[in-house]
Amino acid sequence: MPTQSQRILVTGGAGFLGSHLCERLVDARHDVICLDNFFTSQKANVSHLLERPNFELIRHDVTVPIWLEVDQIYNLACPAAPGHYQYNPIKTIKTSLSGAINVLGMAKRCGAKVLQASTSEVYGNPAVHPQPESYTGNVNPIGPRACYDEGKRAAETLFADYHRMHRTNVRIVRIFNTYGPRMHPFDGRVVSNFIRQALRGEDLTLFGDGSQTRSFCYRDDLVEGIIRMMAAPDELIGPINLGNPGEFSMLQLAQEILDLTESDSQITYRPLPPDDPQKRQPDITLARQHLDWQPSIQLREGLKATIRWFRSINFEDFRPPTPNY
Ligand code: NAD
Ligand code: UDP
Repeated sequence: MPTQSQRILVTGGAGFLGSHLCERLVDARHDVICLDNFFTSQKANVSHLLERPNFELIRHDVTVPIWLEVDQIYNLACPAAPGHYQYNPIKTIKTSLSGAINVLGMAKRCGAKVLQASTSEVYGNPAVHPQPESYTGNVNPIGPRACYDEGKRAAETLFADYHRMHRTNVRIVRIFNTYGPRMHPFDGRVVSNFIRQALRGEDLTLFGDGSQTRSFCYRDDLVEGIIRMMAAPDELIGPINLGNPGEFSMLQLAQEILDLTESDSQITYRPLPPDDPQKRQPDITLARQHLDWQPSIQLREGLKATIRWFRSINFEDFRPPTPNY
């Protein structure tokens, strides 16, 4: 049976994940409002949707209240790359907190379902491996990553409290490192940096000794997980981990990208940034059980698609959002 069309707000909808989510929702014939201040994204990410009658774009900052009538809200607005969120850390934490308060207020008023894009960063530099949702984390509250990590933790608190106090219909997903086409080529994240550097014949900048690990999920898998979480029964508020359990060291990632791009670039070592987590791998037992979800695209395949997209773009068309890349 076709699902009923919903009025859906996607904050941060012009970003890397948000733009793909908007595409999926527009294709499913929902009425989609994309709200974004374009801090870390480009209008070009959603320009192909502007002619669709069920898509609207609003330039707005999520820290400022806005009056809309909607049935569902996906709250993705927040800079996500370390270089982006550390550029103006006070603004970052305001975005998480005021943004959460504003979308939760809207959800309470409209009786809407609201999903928070939380992060594996709530686990900080984890002492438990892999990380299940029950692990409460190891975050330095005053370090350079805290504006993001603590902002996202406090946003989870607000979501849980609105649910307890007002029975607001909330969902929390904890997203692990995700990559794919439409990542900003100058966001400073490891996948975009390595691919850009490899394609331009520049040295790949490997931080530390490259032994730190991450688990990379392809964009399409991740967005499917988010949509399933929104559609899940109301009792399932989360948090639920979404990510690909395949774990790789940054040295392995660099070698894989050099191999796939057939680049002659060398690897150059740079100091490890403070508080950089040593390892990260999602335990996705809950997502498997409750959402019947698991990633289907493995790293090599996802990297090939991402590299194809990076080859297709003109880097000069992208304005670096911050000098940190
Ligand atoms: P992104 O930077 O591409 O997207 C974020 C979007 O939010 C951008 O379009 C940006 O312009 C917008 N934005 C930022 N501040 C805003 C504000 N104050 N008001 C309105 N819009 C604002 O990053 P992404 O990777 O697409 O991340 C999307 C969400 O998913 C973020 O909330 C991020 O924390 C979360 N997340 C992403 C990952 C990942 O690996 N991609 C991992 C964990 C969590
Ligand atoms: N990293 C790296 N070179 C780069 C960018 C990042 O070696 O040019 C490392 C970084 O130190 C971290 C990992 O890659 O250990 C992932 O970094 P990213 O910024 O993509 O995301 P994080 O998971 O740290 O938020």
